[in-house]
Amino acid sequence: LEKQLRQAQKMEAIGTLAGGVAHDFNNILQAIAGYVELMIADRELSQEHREQMVRVNGAVLRAAELVRRLLTFSRKVEAAFKPLDLNKQILATMRLLERTLPKMISIELDLADELPVIKADPSQLEQILMNLGTNARDAMPDGGKFFISTETVFLAAGDRSINMNLEKGEYVQITITDNGHGMDQETSQHIFEPFFTTKGVGRGTGLGLSTVYGVVRNHGGHIECFSEPGLGTTFKILIPVPTEKLPEEEEVKPASQNIKG
Ligand code: ADP
Repeated sequence: LEKQLRQAQKMEAIGTLAGGVAHDFNNILQAIAGYVELMIADRELSQEHREQMVRVNGAVLRAAELVRRLLTFSRKVEAAFKPLDLNKQILATMRLLERTLPKMISIELDLADELPVIKADPSQLEQILMNLGTNARDAMPDGGKFFISTETVFLAAGDRSINMNLEKGEYVQITITDNGHGMDQETSQHIFEPFFTTKGVGRGTGLGLSTVYGVVRNHGGHIECFSEPGLGTTFKILIPVPTEKLPEEEEVKPASQNIKG
């Protein structure tokens, strides 16, 4: 428990540091982006210099995306919380993920029949499910199974198995498992830290799981990782069920329904 607490404090400290740097860096990027835009608009700019400026602009956009992920990790990005049916969100995201997975990887779902509605940001949830799915894919180069289940759990007061920041009460639990190469203990201790990656320069940013961590914390939840080298990896995510009664989930109409014709 003490180890968990120390880990949580460390993550808080990294979050504060990263959030501060990202915030200041974002202001600098905005300035660069502004001047680049002015230069690109300059009619007297030579073709060669315009092409170079377009490249600078591309680099600025990539940097802005990194900064956005860091800000998400530090919970400095506002979430748009809505009443949400988690099972539906998982189904929708798995359809997206499926397209990015090779044939040798199958997705299996075991979703609880009656899951309470939670308050969540759909785009942030989609992002973290995609991040976890992409990592699972990378861990299973020879194929395998990506498994997601949902269930309702009750945490009692003084429950020792959980992070101390969690209140007792009702939670939805998402369990995400792959049977990929897994990781050793040394690796799993650092996976939620921004920029930690074992994938090598240019292949991993090390911002996938730190974003997941930030989003889960932003939702008042908790994430844990269990991994066994050679066997696979499981993430368990707990998200609190709001105690007040929520209105029905808003129906989001598919875009095609808005097109008249
Ligand atoms: P990235 O994917 O860019 O490396 P992440 O933050 O998403 O960054 O992951 C950090 C590291 O955690 C990965 O480099 C990898 O070593 C490890 N990892 C994450 N997910 C898994 C998984 N499902 N199986 C094995 N290792 C994983």
